[in-house]
Amino acid sequence: MKIYGCHLHQKLIKEALFIFSGWMGESMQLLPCPLKEAYSLAEAFARIRVISPEGVLNWDPFSLEVDFETRRLKECRCGKGTVYDGHLYSFLLRHRVEGSWDEGVVVITPDYLCSRQKGEDRYHLRYIIFDFPTLISLPGIIEAPARRSEEGYLWDLGDFRIPRILAALLIQTRFFFWNEEPFCDDPLCSLYNAHWQEELLVAKGNQRLCERHSEFLIKRKRSDPIIVSKKCETVRKKHPCE
Ligand SMILES: [Zn+2]
Ligand SMILES: [Zn+2]
Repeated sequence: MKIYGCHLHQKLIKEALFIFSGWMGESMQLLPCPLKEAYSLAEAFARIRVISPEGVLNWDPFSLEVDFETRRLKECRCGKGTVYDGHLYSFLLRHRVEGSWDEGVVVITPDYLCSRQKGEDRYHLRYIIFDFPTLISLPGIIEAPARRSEEGYLWDLGDFRIPRILAALLIQTRFFFWNEEPFCDDPLCSLYNAHWQEELLVAKGNQRLCERHSEFLIKRKRSDPIIVSKKCETVRKKHPCE
């Protein structure tokens, strides 16, 4: 899988990649923020700002807003903007990332993203947007799922549980690009679609898949050509004839 991450949270992203690689047996390359120096997209980004939860976008941006986006993109000041429409954000990045659907491409961003549920006309803040590329919003992990109370919850990205949660979101993305349903009904499975922070902590914090998804992963690992070829290489290196 190809993973693009903003330089602002490299340490956290690398920790999550380490957990993810260990879990999946798939090594990963961390690529730089695809928004950096994307000046030509400044106006487009200003337009996809969500200015009201009823689905109103900023179709006619002020020049000040475009200037702001130009500066933001120039200096990779991700996370300093407002809230963007997640699927349109993904659409804008589509030609700035490399990789195929089979490989899977994910962008981890400090920006706020939102989307609408099918049949609903209101926008909701999201921590993940399944699309090509899939987007993971870091502030969304903290703020998108509702809290039932104030105790024991996540308040900032410095929380020790965040790398594990991020790794679980990468697993979910991996399943999505395998054309598998990325959501599970089992609240203890890392693929569970958590709406409450309490559910997110249980499902994503335990690094566990349900029986059905564990079996799928084992089968997939066995047949995955990338993993097979890696094994062959190790054997070849040790061969006495070489
Ligand atoms: Zn960035
Ligand atoms: Zn499951």
